[in-house]
Amino acid sequence: MEQKRDTRFPKEHLRLLVEGKLDWEEVKKAIRLAPKDNDRFWKYLEVLQERVPWKDKILLRISDHLYIVAKEGGGRVVKCDCGHEFGDYRVNWKLGCRIRTRKTLEEMAEVVAVEEAAPEPHLVEIREYYCPGCFSQLGTEIVPEGYPPIFEMLPDLDTFYRDWLGTPLPDESPDWFQDKTLERPAEWAKEG
Ligand SMILES: [Zn+2]
Repeated sequence: MEQKRDTRFPKEHLRLLVEGKLDWEEVKKAIRLAPKDNDRFWKYLEVLQERVPWKDKILLRISDHLYIVAKEGGGRVVKCDCGHEFGDYRVNWKLGCRIRTRKTLEEMAEVVAVEEAAPEPHLVEIREYYCPGCFSQLGTEIVPEGYPPIFEMLPDLDTFYRDWLGTPLPDESPDWFQDKTLERPAEWAKEG
């Protein structure tokens, strides 16, 4: 979006911050800046967009590798920085992952170095979620066997863009802020 640039915290600094290279003194200045630069989120989106190899418009970053993007022909989907798409953002993206499960103490010990810190194998399992496109590890969770994959983030994008950023999304609809995760296994069941 085009508006007057607030350069008190310049975009180049944001880029360095995203890359983990911004000097700590500058980070503190950015945190303490009052009032905050009013276009910080937009500059942040630009920085993110310039770092990915695809053109779909980023609406929100939801983890190190994952973004909710607006598709050209309509739709809001979760997309990995490698380009792999997980589909509608209202469905937990974990359902589209390669999953590795650690159930025994031996398997857990491979990733938990301190023995006392290892989970109880008879109570819980460790799940690791990987992108099918680039095999980046996208998330982990420690849950009882059979527990549904935790849906980490279902943002209310319309409220965020309309009420917080003052720029409503063009495809605003009450239908967006709904968890549709259970529809995916229902489809699998139909497919047999
Ligand atoms: Zn990926």
